[in-house]
Amino acid sequence: MLIELDGSQGEGGGQILRTALTLSMCTGQPMRIRNIRAKRKNPGLMRQHLTAVQAAAAISGAQVDGAQVGSTELHFSPSKIQGGEYRFSIGTAGSCTLVLQTILPALLMTDSDSHVTLSGGTHNPMSPPFHFLQRAFVPLLEKMGAKVELQLNRFGFYPAGGGEITMTIAAGKPLQPLHLKKRGERINAYAESFFAGLPAHIAERELAMVKKRLAWADDQLLVRGVDRHQGPGNAVLITLEYEHMTEVFTGFGEKGVAAEVVANGVIKQALRYMASEATAGHFLADQLLLPMALAGGGSFVATDWSPHAETNADIIQRFLLIEIQTLETYNGDVLVQLAEK
Ligand code: ATP
Repeated sequence: MLIELDGSQGEGGGQILRTALTLSMCTGQPMRIRNIRAKRKNPGLMRQHLTAVQAAAAISGAQVDGAQVGSTELHFSPSKIQGGEYRFSIGTAGSCTLVLQTILPALLMTDSDSHVTLSGGTHNPMSPPFHFLQRAFVPLLEKMGAKVELQLNRFGFYPAGGGEITMTIAAGKPLQPLHLKKRGERINAYAESFFAGLPAHIAERELAMVKKRLAWADDQLLVRGVDRHQGPGNAVLITLEYEHMTEVFTGFGEKGVAAEVVANGVIKQALRYMASEATAGHFLADQLLLPMALAGGGSFVATDWSPHAETNADIIQRFLLIEIQTLETYNGDVLVQLAEK
């Protein structure tokens, strides 16, 4: 049955499209979406969204109408998902990690292994950076039974882009429910400043701010110079490793924004997470919903429940018979539970 979606609902951004593409492929249900990204200042499909549509169509042999830049309406009718060798290129600094996340769940459901190369942005504001996927997101999919390997071949920072990621997915590893209620003891914590084609003092100032505000030791502060041809760009990452999971918080360097301001942004995110008892931070929370829904259940504790997560939950429930419940806990964290209806 055709699923009709309104892209202006809730948060009204590109996630509605990406979630709908993934679930259309995974469930075999065709979908039509109108008002794509209606609440963004540049509505319709941008290069990144169009590449997600094309990648989804390529792996599922879908029939598609409306796949052009600027299109605000799309009809997507998938056939059988096929694993194999694929290469997708965004052609701008548009995030290739969001394209990767769109097709990953579908490729887990095929009966042959996949090897996918994606080029575009790998460390873009408003998207999961590569290291977040590699350290936080994919290990949780692996706890759910998947077997996925990610490799960063080349950094792509906004606005230059030009990065490349490869993803290898083993077939026949469907997702199983995961209950992630406790993160366990902290076993490692470190901050890294990646910089390419920019002066090293940017990284030093960012890490000095982390040292000052988090009182971390020098061996927790890592300057990561990247070949200047992969720049210009800068990202500062705070990685917190716990017994049961890892979280990664990111600040993106921006022209005209002081290194200290970039560092303070990511420190704020990490402090909020550390002060909570949550397993999933703000971004991980909205990204865990889809795999857990496909697994038929799961639970986690989020630092907060964002409009993005709420909208994602609504779209998921249009495709799957799954109940998504949220419950505020005594300290303001949010317990999120998914169960089959
Ligand atoms: P658009 O309409 O422009 O495509 P969108 O509404 O789809 O935007 P956002 O809501 O900004 O996009 O977020 C896209 C996804 O990227 C979300 O799943 C969010 O969790 C994730 N994300 C954004 N920033 C980060 C970050 N720093 N770390 C991890 N994930 C992130």
